[in-house]
Amino acid sequence: MRAFTYQSAGSAQAAVGGTSDKPGSSDKRGDGATVFLAGGTTLLDLMKLDVSRPAALIDIGEATQQLSVIEATAAGLRIGALAKMSAVANDTAVNRDYPVVAQSLQMAASAQLRNMASMAGNLLQRTRCSYFRDTTWARCNKRVPGSGCDALEGMNRLHGVLAVSEQCIASYPGDFANVFVALDGSVEVLGPRGARTIRAANLHLASGDSPAVETTLHPGELITALYIPSGPHTRRSAYVKVRDRQSYAFALTSAAVAMDLQGGTVRDVRIGLGGVAGKPWRSAEAEAVLRGQPFSEALASRAGEAAFARARTREHNAFKPQLGALTLVRALMQVHGMEV
Ligand code: SF4
Repeated sequence: MRAFTYQSAGSAQAAVGGTSDKPGSSDKRGDGATVFLAGGTTLLDLMKLDVSRPAALIDIGEATQQLSVIEATAAGLRIGALAKMSAVANDTAVNRDYPVVAQSLQMAASAQLRNMASMAGNLLQRTRCSYFRDTTWARCNKRVPGSGCDALEGMNRLHGVLAVSEQCIASYPGDFANVFVALDGSVEVLGPRGARTIRAANLHLASGDSPAVETTLHPGELITALYIPSGPHTRRSAYVKVRDRQSYAFALTSAAVAMDLQGGTVRDVRIGLGGVAGKPWRSAEAEAVLRGQPFSEALASRAGEAAFARARTREHNAFKPQLGALTLVRALMQVHGMEV
């Protein structure tokens, strides 16, 4: 691990003040940058691997009391950025009114990691692409812009089939973020230029031509809270995750579904897909197939096909569109059968 400076901030305002005159942000490689340290479950790993090389860390752990409140109201769910994954996963109101949120967190990582990791850090976790995390591989456009991509012709079983590019085919690894984008969440952000709100759909960027740039956060900006609006769809919701082993594993494919079902007809539906795309993915195509239609297993299958109609596969991940479609069908059937 390389040398870095360390300071602690007791509030969000103090943390952001510490970055105001410095370059860099927390979503790039971090060479020479000032970055925020919360649970550390991603950042410290990447620093030890020499993938991330910040010059300065601002530890925001002392701001936990300010930034970890979980508030469920009739309008929606507001979660402090430093709330632990485990606290949200175990919250009574979240389990009752947003089961898809609780389930996506319960199925992520390990109990120890969920007790450490913050919600904002969970959103901002970085890809598990082996070529990104192992610096002995020379070509990785995300780690070294312009160097190429060793995964294109390498082992790409876990890589993405949607929202990927010729520059990067890495899949976004998280679970909750797919729920967050499906439920039209947003993040509250504080930065050197003040506060702003970013819709979940606009927070992460697809790989495109610049895979090293992963989010729309500006240098020095800190996520302070996450917000999810409630709706007639949020209680009838579930998360289904398919993985190589039943705990402590990233998704091969996953599906987040929230449905407003009236008299057997899908009045509204929200669908997020995990393990398959270069960013947290909401499937507008699958939602369009279902919305306004009497629900049936055949309709669910058509939604699954629509979700992956634009998939681009590689040598080892050609199974993902079919598995992803079946995962979505399972989630839809599960949600359809719920008593709410
Ligand atoms: Fe790097 Fe992306 Fe290629 Fe992986 S898929 S080696 S992260 S450029």
